[in-house]
Amino acid sequence: MPSSTVHRIYNFSAGPAVMPLPVLEQAQRELVALPGVGMSVMEISHRSKTFEDILSRAIAAVRELSGLDERYKVLMLQGGASLQFSMVPMNLLGAGQTADYIDTGSWADKAAKEARRVGAVNVAASTKADDYSRIPSAGELKLTDGASYVHITTNNTIEGTQWKDLPDVGIRPLVADASSDIFSRPMDFRRFGLIYAGAQKNLGPSGVTLVMIREDLLARSPATLPTMMNYKVQAENNSLYNTPPTFGIYILGLTMTWLNSQGGLPAVAATNERKAARLYGEIDRTGFYRGTAQKESRSLMNVTFRLPSEELEKMFEKEATAAGLDGLKGHRSVGGMRASIYNAFPEEGVEALVEFMREFERTRG
Ligand code: PMP
Repeated sequence: MPSSTVHRIYNFSAGPAVMPLPVLEQAQRELVALPGVGMSVMEISHRSKTFEDILSRAIAAVRELSGLDERYKVLMLQGGASLQFSMVPMNLLGAGQTADYIDTGSWADKAAKEARRVGAVNVAASTKADDYSRIPSAGELKLTDGASYVHITTNNTIEGTQWKDLPDVGIRPLVADASSDIFSRPMDFRRFGLIYAGAQKNLGPSGVTLVMIREDLLARSPATLPTMMNYKVQAENNSLYNTPPTFGIYILGLTMTWLNSQGGLPAVAATNERKAARLYGEIDRTGFYRGTAQKESRSLMNVTFRLPSEELEKMFEKEATAAGLDGLKGHRSVGGMRASIYNAFPEEGVEALVEFMREFERTRG
């Protein structure tokens, strides 16, 4: 169990999800008054020097993790990843043009649905016929010549699949929803034209949405867009066109600083691989548990599996919760179990789940 004086259970929630304990403790220490400021982060103006520093530190930490320089704008917006489903096509999909979407899960499908409200969408590949149990191979992609962009979902939170290598999309800008695996592994972020993520899994609390956009793409934003939906305006104003989610940005900054202090992406990736391997190893050990994602597409963040019957699944969930292993119920649209083991999820929690799974199988299998 973590070292906090308060009892914390193991939280396998898909999001909002577990946060690093040192981040929560620092926020707790600084909640009433930021050191040297005498006011809470929630009480200061977003135009103050103090907040400006908080925002720049958060952006600097994001740049350090991503390796992206000034050619990319780092934006902290609101509205969640779901608003990005709309903002991406509103800004990037020109009249008479087509955007390619790769359909790997329900969030990918939702993104494409929103884009269709704006313009023409080509589904360049879909694994829906396989219950979204895998990521398509390079050979399956039917990309449009001159597509405005190609949209992927790097990690499919509900189905438990993850892109291992980014697809080759030629000169078309690659746009990614990385809500559920952002900063969980090293990646060449320069491969993206735009990458976005709701904060509530690997970045911080809900309410902030991180957007990193290549500068040249800002020229596409039509001046007729609603102001708040315009990336160019948001970039020109350094996310301060209106009042940004100040508390969320503060926590995001602390979380990114924590991640850097852990050794950054290579270190966190090694831990994430160990955690996932331990769980998948247990799932594959006998035939009792069954992973739902095809092996080569398995997510390191959301480990989805089933038990021999729904009755056993209900029992598993109930008893796991009672044992302090919370949030293991799969998404309501697919059922089964899901263990979300994001960056901040501790290895001891994975051990505790593996032990629980063994004992459950021994007594019920
Ligand atoms: N995309 C993915 C991959 C997600 O996992 C989620 C949320 N679980 C969303 C989009 C929607 O995010 P939000 O609630 O921030 O709109």
